[in-house]
Amino acid sequence: MGEFELIQRYFLPLAGQQKSRSLILGPGDDCAIQRIPAGRDLVFSVDTLVEGVHFPRNYRPDYLGWRALAVAASDLAAMGADAECFTLAVTMPEADEQWLAGFARGLSRASKAFGMALAGGDTTSGPLTLTLQVHGTVEQGTAIRRSGARSGDLVAVSGTLGDAGAALDYLNEASPSPHVAAVLDRYHSPRPRLALGSAVRGIASAAVDISDGLLADLGHILEASEVGARIDSARLPVSMPLKRLKGDAALDFALRSGDDYELCLTIPAERWKNAPDEIRKQLSVIGTVESRPGLFLDGKPCGGDTGFDHFRSRR
Ligand code: ADP
Ligand code: MG
Repeated sequence: MGEFELIQRYFLPLAGQQKSRSLILGPGDDCAIQRIPAGRDLVFSVDTLVEGVHFPRNYRPDYLGWRALAVAASDLAAMGADAECFTLAVTMPEADEQWLAGFARGLSRASKAFGMALAGGDTTSGPLTLTLQVHGTVEQGTAIRRSGARSGDLVAVSGTLGDAGAALDYLNEASPSPHVAAVLDRYHSPRPRLALGSAVRGIASAAVDISDGLLADLGHILEASEVGARIDSARLPVSMPLKRLKGDAALDFALRSGDDYELCLTIPAERWKNAPDEIRKQLSVIGTVESRPGLFLDGKPCGGDTGFDHFRSRR
């Protein structure tokens, strides 16, 4: 099967099934065309996933298809952007039809779930690597940046933390218990907080998605905003399966492990008080932004967690 046949069979059908408001020409020409409505900003980001670095070797292709778009779309959620479309560059060692069918199936599910149309891409041979560029839009000037946190703002996180990181210990489990299955699901099927991100536009002062761990990613907000924060370990949202599996170590997973793709936000206290219930119930307040620099957990300094660095050993 040649390159063009492969694109035709596995990727073009996927492009046809999900429309985006702003994408006016999808794959097939030299470029795609996106029309940004007057008064909106284009918000975009690119992410690369390399086999053996970002996902395990021989990883299930349908999981990979979902995961690739989910982790890229999570950056749009962190900016409060409305997701629109994406491009996909696939590098793979060979045209394995079974692999391609699985990959396209997972990607297609994600494309529909997130309302993001495939706009185009590139297909090449080489070591398995995926690069996705994601496009979203916001009303002009309303994207949520990392730099907007101010002293007195509350620190909040969505969902529960640490589950996906704990899943790494069980990736090869043949018949997982219900608790193990629950954390594995968080790793294999991350759900980017797109609706929440859009909903907190105009409410959150800063936001980041938690890909490297809470301490590391909150640290990015504090650095960009030139502030500090204190957080309270008792208020960290930890799931029942994680508590059962990891006992006292669950807290450490919630603080330091990545791959959850939840949001960490800062919100002025007044806006939090007046926020709709629909938003409040998706978030846990875990601390407060302070002018004193540094990150403090239960009163003790705990900063300096810089997250994953491809060119240094981890922490
Ligand atoms: P060009 O050589 O002009 O860059 P290509 O041969 O790379 O064009 O691609 C032809 C068309 O197929 C383009 O519209 C491109 O967007 C689309 N395409 C190629 N690979 C993919 C893919 N993996 N997913 C979606 N569209 C793709
Ligand atoms: Mg061309």
